Amino acid sequence: MLIDTSTAKDFINEDAIWATIEKADTPDPAEVRDILAKAAERKGLTQYETAVLLQNTDKDLDEEIFSTAMAVKQGIYGNRLVLFAPLYITNECCNKCAYCGFNADNDDLDRRTLNDAEIASETRVLEDLGQKRLLLVYGEHPRLDAKWIAHTMQVVYDTISEKSGEIRRVNVNCAPLDVDGFRALQETGIGTYQCFQETYHRKTYEKVHLAGRKTNYLWRLNALHRAQEAGIDDVAMGALFGLYDHRFEMLALLQHAEQLEKDWGVGPHTISFPRMEPALGSEMSYDPPYAISKHDFKKVVAILRLAVPYTGLILTTRENAEYRRELIKVGVSQISGGSRTYPGAYTDPEYDRPDVQQFCVGDNRSFDEVIRDVVEQGYLPSWCTACYRLGRTGEHFMELAKKGFIQKFCHPNAMMTFNEYLNDYASPETREAGRLFLEKELKGIGDEKTHTRIAERMKRIDAGERDLYF
Ligand code: SAM
Ligand code: SF4
Repeated sequence: MLIDTSTAKDFINEDAIWATIEKADTPDPAEVRDILAKAAERKGLTQYETAVLLQNTDKDLDEEIFSTAMAVKQGIYGNRLVLFAPLYITNECCNKCAYCGFNADNDDLDRRTLNDAEIASETRVLEDLGQKRLLLVYGEHPRLDAKWIAHTMQVVYDTISEKSGEIRRVNVNCAPLDVDGFRALQETGIGTYQCFQETYHRKTYEKVHLAGRKTNYLWRLNALHRAQEAGIDDVAMGALFGLYDHRFEMLALLQHAEQLEKDWGVGPHTISFPRMEPALGSEMSYDPPYAISKHDFKKVVAILRLAVPYTGLILTTRENAEYRRELIKVGVSQISGGSRTYPGAYTDPEYDRPDVQQFCVGDNRSFDEVIRDVVEQGYLPSWCTACYRLGRTGEHFMELAKKGFIQKFCHPNAMMTFNEYLNDYASPETREAGRLFLEKELKGIGDEKTHTRIAERMKRIDAGERDLYF
């Protein structure tokens, strides 16, 4: 693959970001309240407004930021929470990212690339746990090209557990490809293509990417544009928090989102905000240069919810269970659960091996425990993939989301997928908690026609029918 940045756009304006941060550095409480009033109407935030909220120091107003984010999330998504798991396919990597355990200098890492049979075995374990949506994760190695990545996706789609059925959506987090490469992924049925810029700050980017293709900032910055060009209309961005000033990264994420919207008519499908975790073989990861406090990180999540109200926000198991509960409240819409972060981990009897994993996982609970906890916190777990399978993606999806479609379709679909989960995979305790929860949800549906339609489908699921959706 030839890395060609001759047509790449350089749309991150560092001077403008700093000027905005400076302009908003001593927020007036009245202005913060005005901005929150606008945000409550789900109109999003400008970069300046984002900078104001980020730099608010009034504790009471911070609480208002959290409660407004919670209300916006509830208004758009209701109480649904989409669930997925990562599946690591390879930890071979030629890059030297100073923060990552997979970096090429880490000689202690046991390098593995799963073969087809191993991918199928891992997939079956995940299917038997009830997973329906997977995020495939890859290191970057010239031998492991786009064709091979597409092949591994196909292996996952083709693996159908006798007991549990199939994976319905395969998302991918791999190094940036060229347009032809992305086309191969598109033709294999990719859900979302995810690529994090890590840091948008050029000097820091240079400092932490020491060798390999990833040293090219512009090639990475334009990855989501190339994915769009290849026809992948659900693209996902993120920044690795801890590398640089979180205020800068937030405004840069918004600049990136705005550029996608301008060029492709649709912003990111989701945004991720990994926080740097300790990783064996990465000194930096034990002492991140811009470690972000829990309070500030919670603000990052809440303000993202207000800034891009219709964009999915993803929280992984990097954070611990207790803190995840707190973050979910302020606007997260997707979480991973029961995650393992190395190739072969789900079939490994000696699980929890630092010599192969990417970073330390903060939430080690089983998938079933995560689901039960989610329900106990009042959220409805969802594995719905209806939109993607009915072609409601990209710009089309965003339009529908803005018209309150989510409540009308996504909520019933979530209930049905959760009922499948309870029937097929849940432990007795989770089943009991889940059934009571679903009864309550059904009672809460005021419209008689919708109520009857859902109740009828729930009975069909209990009788053994699967994969029903609106
Ligand atoms: N190799 C591909 C790439 O770099 O784009 C994708 C895979 S990489 C394993 C996925 C993401 O993990 C990276 O984009 C980075 O944000 C995150 N990551 C790397 N090291 C981490 C650490 N120590 N703690 C938390 N997240 C980390
Ligand atoms: Fe390789 Fe990605 Fe880790 Fe960098 S972040 S070392 S590219 S796996």
